[in-house]
Amino acid sequence: MSFEALGLHASIVKAATDAGYTTPTPVQEQAIPAGIAGRDLLVSSQTGSGKTAAFMLPALHKLALAEQAPVAPRGAPGERPRFKAAQPKMLVLTPTRELALQVTSATEKYGTQIRRIRAVSILGGMPYPKQMQLLAKNPEILVATPGRLIDHMESGKIDFSQLEILVLDEADRMLDMGFIDDIEKIIAATPAGRQTMLFSATLDGMVGNMARRITKDPMVIQITSSSSKHENIVQRVHFVDDLSHKNRLLDHLLRDETLDQAVVFTATKRDADTIADRLNIAGFSAAALHGDMHQGARNRTLDGLRRGNVKVLVATDVAARGIDVPTITHVFNYDLPKFPEDYVHRIGRTGRAGRNGLAISLVNHAEGMNVKRIERFTKQLIPVNVIEGFEPKRTASAPRSAARPGTWKPGDNRTGAKPGQRTFSKPGAPRREGAPAGGGYKGSNPRSADGARRTYGDR
Ligand code: AMP
Repeated sequence: MSFEALGLHASIVKAATDAGYTTPTPVQEQAIPAGIAGRDLLVSSQTGSGKTAAFMLPALHKLALAEQAPVAPRGAPGERPRFKAAQPKMLVLTPTRELALQVTSATEKYGTQIRRIRAVSILGGMPYPKQMQLLAKNPEILVATPGRLIDHMESGKIDFSQLEILVLDEADRMLDMGFIDDIEKIIAATPAGRQTMLFSATLDGMVGNMARRITKDPMVIQITSSSSKHENIVQRVHFVDDLSHKNRLLDHLLRDETLDQAVVFTATKRDADTIADRLNIAGFSAAALHGDMHQGARNRTLDGLRRGNVKVLVATDVAARGIDVPTITHVFNYDLPKFPEDYVHRIGRTGRAGRNGLAISLVNHAEGMNVKRIERFTKQLIPVNVIEGFEPKRTASAPRSAARPGTWKPGDNRTGAKPGQRTFSKPGAPRREGAPAGGGYKGSNPRSADGARRTYGDR
């Protein structure tokens, strides 16, 4: 199957080819023809599946065709020129600023061959005057986070009466982040005849209810690609006794010679800063990324990551969403995420663009139940590894079978052990050391074994 065969305009096929895409991904194969035909779409797919192009290519195709038609003048003839609200044709809502910027730059890439179609990002954290300038150009496409968009709608700077296409990207995440009222308000301001495309990791529960309300006769596309199951990512758990054990083990694992770049996830913004500082002192080029940082600082950090100047990014869930840097070889869960869904998003920061990845969770004994919850959610068991010299004091209470080995390459250095250093647990082998049978996880804000009260991420 080729991009031409999907019915796309030649200029868009050329942009996709120039971007290095030879064949459409499974989500693109299904979504693009339906999108061109004007159907509403409900798509369950993960980041990394090519979902941005799945909604943006058909949208650009339609907008490019519409641009060839004569444009109706804005305002009545003879009317005095005055401030006019922007009247976008397409709106993409995303949960985070990073994802919005990523979608905007993908749109620019896919639209290089089409003149007169502009995409701008409307984000919290960006200065208002700059956004007013962008809106004054009356861009065809807005990519926005819900909160800031509502501000502009309420001050009359945006008018959605001409909107043709609405996309909700990572809709499940937007709902998790509490944007439901904002989203409802935005949708209510758009024409009922619009085309709606909703992308989400899951179409169950609350997101499924909303999806059914806001779409008409949608085509439902469920993608369970190998990348959404993360089959190219080897997962490991290392049990730790306390914070000092955890820090020593992290330092050791970060020295793995197969590590190119890594993301270390922490539960709190403060921990992200503290750990990044500590790693810098230890000689790693580390940087923190979290929601308390100004947008400029976040962008600089992400640029540093993309250019390879930042080797270890220490991040919270929300800030790191959607990061797409193929040279990230390792993901570490310094703290386990609160929700199993976040685990899946976190480990998906590695193993991008067809490569393999390694995801290691550093787990206090009392958090064994959280590991089980993640295993139930992903329907995969995560093998436990122990590295000589870093053994936890507690020993196994019950054997636990290991997950199917992944395909991590290069070499067999899956645990980050130094050359010559023996690792006790090989992939596929039963664990030597285990989660406590009862587990110590209670409630939604557990006190971890190291005694620190955790508040979770940017929520
Ligand atoms: P997304 O799921 O939209 O975040 O895309 C994940 C990555 O896949 C991005 O780096 C895209 O540039 C890339 N990508 C999207 N579509 C294709 C394709 N058809 N062929 C190769 N790479 C693609």
